[in-house]
Amino acid sequence: MSEAGVSATRREVDPGRKYGIMLNNNSNSWKCIYCKKYFNTGISCLKQHLRGDHRNAKACNLYPLHVREELIRNKQMKEDEIAARNLALQEE
Ligand SMILES: [Zn+2]
Repeated sequence: MSEAGVSATRREVDPGRKYGIMLNNNSNSWKCIYCKKYFNTGISCLKQHLRGDHRNAKACNLYPLHVREELIRNKQMKEDEIAARNLALQEE
């Protein structure tokens, strides 16, 4: 009987965490593992930096292309999930 353990291991890991290092145990402070740029405004800024899809975030130019593709795919999946959930709610 370890249902809690199963759900914990199945929980999705934020892909941004693989490409950043958390600083001082502060979830708002991250360092890009490729260009070593610091972010103190949360992991979403790090991910914007890696995807290069936000006008306020300077895109990373040292990371491999597959990282950008993975992050963009992940973001798209999340958006699809939210859209599907909203649709389901509307139909109820
Ligand atoms: Zn970077």
